[in-house]
Amino acid sequence: MATADSTTAGVEKPAEAQMARLDSPPGLIVVGGGIAGVTCTETLSDLCPEEEITLISASPLIKTVTNFNQISYVLEEFEVEERPAAALQTRCQNVRVVQDMVTEIDSTNCKITTQSGLKIQYKKLCVCTGGIPKLICKDNPLVLGIRDTESVATFQKKLTGAKRVVVVGNGGIATELVYEIEGCEVVWVIKDTSISSTFVDAGAAEFFLPHLVKDKEPAQGPLKRHKYEVADLEAARRTQPTKGGALGPDWNTGLDMKGQARGSHQVHVEYQSEVKSVWTPSEFKSSNKTADCVPSSTTSSEKPATEWPVYVHLTNGKTYGCDFVVSATGVTPNTALFQNQINLDLADDKGMKVDDHMRTNIEHIYAAGDVCTASWEPATHWMQMRLWSQARQMGAYAAKCMVADATGESISQDFCFELFAHVTKFFGYKVVLLGKYNAQDLGNEYEILLRVSDDREFVKVILCNGKMYGAILIGDTDLEETFENLILNGLDLSRYGEDLLDPNIEIEDYFD
Ligand code: FAD
Repeated sequence: MATADSTTAGVEKPAEAQMARLDSPPGLIVVGGGIAGVTCTETLSDLCPEEEITLISASPLIKTVTNFNQISYVLEEFEVEERPAAALQTRCQNVRVVQDMVTEIDSTNCKITTQSGLKIQYKKLCVCTGGIPKLICKDNPLVLGIRDTESVATFQKKLTGAKRVVVVGNGGIATELVYEIEGCEVVWVIKDTSISSTFVDAGAAEFFLPHLVKDKEPAQGPLKRHKYEVADLEAARRTQPTKGGALGPDWNTGLDMKGQARGSHQVHVEYQSEVKSVWTPSEFKSSNKTADCVPSSTTSSEKPATEWPVYVHLTNGKTYGCDFVVSATGVTPNTALFQNQINLDLADDKGMKVDDHMRTNIEHIYAAGDVCTASWEPATHWMQMRLWSQARQMGAYAAKCMVADATGESISQDFCFELFAHVTKFFGYKVVLLGKYNAQDLGNEYEILLRVSDDREFVKVILCNGKMYGAILIGDTDLEETFENLILNGLDLSRYGEDLLDPNIEIEDYFD
């Protein structure tokens, strides 16, 4: 386990960094120690071992991708470790890591300034500053966002004394949380008609629904990756209190998410509703509303309605008291650095627009990961989602583009941008999403093939003009590689009809 010293050893800190480098020749600079920034730095280090590469990160620990496994052509899985920044310098001899916050970018003179006064000139700069959680209510200690190791620790601490939490949002974080929380009533507030709608459709949501109230399967096998404990992180933060990068895969594995009550799962979903107001107990009292009870609650009867520390009033008219609220409503790209750059092109979602070379509209400035918005004409089966797989792919590709642009080489876009592919785990099931898995952008011109086997698996295929455009595979279906090929090959599958999903037919044999 790392100590505070080893956590920061070898990394340039603000005081040392005061020895400003304006006089050194402009180099390759990456801002951000998340998956995108670290992958970009490592790739740059590999591609140009003779160059000095500087990674500047506000977070004391940086993210490192480990145990990378290319499952198929496009599907990949990996683990993410939080490591002391110094470890990167040991591994990549031409990398210098500076723990500092970049505060200004002077794009006219290709120069960045940091909080501690360091000024560095760049030849090429890649911005990987991630995203900031959208909170339904700012500056309320009883409304938590989940983003980094520290925010998870705060959440865990609050949960140990909690009997009821309200979780707001319908994406991956909310879905994982409601499954992981035990011994605590959960009111899950979603604005859609079905759960987990960012990732799956209403049919798959139905498949998951029974798991909201079922006992959780005990975790299998030991936790493989090393986690730096928050004590280490706090020690590191004492040197500079900053925000960390977004969490990585298996962020919730092995974490104790138990509340005060008995029992495993108790999740009540409030569909098609949003939070209208968050009230203190006295605001609730003066609202003259009555607090709603959770159906089949074991807690509500124990606790008088006026004694919760916080209340949420929903757009459907209901009001719930709870111990605290988790706001898991997505992230906004973190472009704070560019506040004064009126010439920066931002997309509608506030991400930095990047072209097919990961270039922003400002010369020599690239962007990758959650902070950017892919603004090239996407391949038929690809779309951007702010996921760690895409943060890694964009970081690596941005590095290749920076080097190619500097040397005048031409490179073609990485193959990973041909097909959207994501593996995750929801409610204990492996979930693989391929291509336009929810018929995104296909209008009404598509058909669906479905195979559902009780509690075991859920397979959905999207066909358009006889060709496979996307698929959702839940459970151990073993179909991912075949389906990935079918989508990429664009074969006309009309003649196979429903045989395509017949469990008695070895589908791989058809297409060998
Ligand atoms: P980040 O990891 O946010 O890194 C940004 C870095 O920039 C940080 O190191 C920060 O300190 C630094 N920084 C910011 N501003 C400055 C500055 N001015 N100067 C210097 N440094 C700065 N993805 C999935 O694929 N599947 C999931 O199931 C999933 N679940 C998630 C669960 C949680 C709880 C969260 C929070 C995210 C989840 N994600 C998931 C999303 C995924 O983690 C992100 O898409 C990915 O990590 C983004 O990486 P990034 O490098 O772009 O940004």
